[in-house]
Amino acid sequence: MSTLYRGGFVYSPVDPFATAMVVTGHEIAWIGGEEAAAGHADAVDEVVDLDGALVTPTFVDAHVHTSMTGLSLEGVDLSDSLSLAEALSRIETAARARQGRPVYAHSWDERAWPEGRAATSAELDRASYGGVVYMPRIDAHSAVVSSALAAASGARGRDGWHESGLVLREAHHLAREAFHAGITPADRSRHVDLALKAAAQAGIGLVHEHGAPHLSSAEDLATVIAAGDRGDGPQVMAYWGELVEDEQAARDLVARHGARGLAGDLCADGSVGSRTARVRRPYADEDTHGCAYLSVEQVRDHVSACSLAGVQAGFHVIGDAAVETVVAGLRAAAEQVGADVVRRARHRLEHLEMPDADAIAALVDLGVHASVQPAFDAAWGGEAGMYAARLGAERALAMNPVASMAAAGMSLALGSDTPVTPFAPWQAIRACVNHHNPEQRISARSAFLAHTRGGWRAGGIDDRGYLDLGQPASFAIWSVGDLVVQAPDDRIQTWSTDPRSGTPGLPDLSPGADLPVNLRTVIRGRTVFDREGALT
Ligand SMILES: [Zn+2]
Repeated sequence: MSTLYRGGFVYSPVDPFATAMVVTGHEIAWIGGEEAAAGHADAVDEVVDLDGALVTPTFVDAHVHTSMTGLSLEGVDLSDSLSLAEALSRIETAARARQGRPVYAHSWDERAWPEGRAATSAELDRASYGGVVYMPRIDAHSAVVSSALAAASGARGRDGWHESGLVLREAHHLAREAFHAGITPADRSRHVDLALKAAAQAGIGLVHEHGAPHLSSAEDLATVIAAGDRGDGPQVMAYWGELVEDEQAARDLVARHGARGLAGDLCADGSVGSRTARVRRPYADEDTHGCAYLSVEQVRDHVSACSLAGVQAGFHVIGDAAVETVVAGLRAAAEQVGADVVRRARHRLEHLEMPDADAIAALVDLGVHASVQPAFDAAWGGEAGMYAARLGAERALAMNPVASMAAAGMSLALGSDTPVTPFAPWQAIRACVNHHNPEQRISARSAFLAHTRGGWRAGGIDDRGYLDLGQPASFAIWSVGDLVVQAPDDRIQTWSTDPRSGTPGLPDLSPGADLPVNLRTVIRGRTVFDREGALT
């Protein structure tokens, strides 16, 4: 089967003026201009008129929790509910549709409701006809549970239990565990499929799944890997966040889980929102430094073991003090087993929100990749955002320093941390271009590369994520407005539509501009998402 796509724009480093592409089987067979495309039209099985659409390589989302994402997608999203009454009515509708099966209703915030309070168990019991309802708040650190879930989990009366049905701390953990224990293998498969379908629809061709003993399970990871192997959706690279102390344990663990590395959400600290990210100076709104979950020695031993085994190691690391610990551990490992051995294993860090110049230099020296979430800056950055409330404006503006990292030569991969933020690659690129801190803005082109090739590189594969002859035919087709080339010197101030710049254009990502709409996603020659009626 061969297909000629013509009459659009093909974003390829081999030809900045390309308008057409031929796909034969799983591979890209040709890329070029309109004149030459005419010569291919008769030789192919099918011709698709792009009608001015943009063809890009599929994106890589480097930080994904696949089954959790599917659970959220299937559940009741209350983030845009305008009142408690509306939230309860949505839960009732879902409970009826689910015919007695458990209901997951998430992301509520009582501050957005005129009632100004959380739901109660009694209200959930009425809405669900006495069913199981788990209703985590937007920060996921507290929840309201129905009486049935309170009883089944034994949360009632434990630390953090409120008579209204609100649960925190131990009571919350019990309720959450009981809810998750009720998820059957069939539910899990459905959640994974739903999430991967959403990824395909967002133009994503590869997800990095991050499982860990404290987050998910080996069965969960296996389900995600198996779904990726089916070949009818995005590819999957899996990471397992579990600490090891010796080389053999590292080998055994990656083999047992089919994982690419012992990295991901292996937590050196927590998060800024919950004041558990480990920071050098105390939080601005509470006298705490956050939590340190790993010591320099633990980091060192893990990195040494993984490096010797040729396995990628990595950590979830957010606060500046946690970054310091991880960098010290990496340096100690380099002393122990040799810097070259550490570099060869291509370790990676997740989030890396507060590295200073010294940390960045040390990480670049050791060949460490950064897997970052620009949507976090868009959601919580700036002088008036959640980061500033927690840490003060000065530290908030210094967070997520993508330009400093890129300028120092650090290899960046972008991701969403879904379900924390949704699959949304163009939004991530836009967040880089419009970073709250003007000094940390990078060009759309750099961000685009980080969201495509950068993701493959972070997974240890250098020659994927761009459109070229012989490459796997993994691409997305976008309906776009004008394509522009960002002038390198003026950052976002100047845009060029001059084709003589010799650089392929990207969509206009200035604030307020319409983002590209995905028309089709093709992965290794197979169409995995097709917007109805868009391409004929
Ligand atoms: Zn994560």
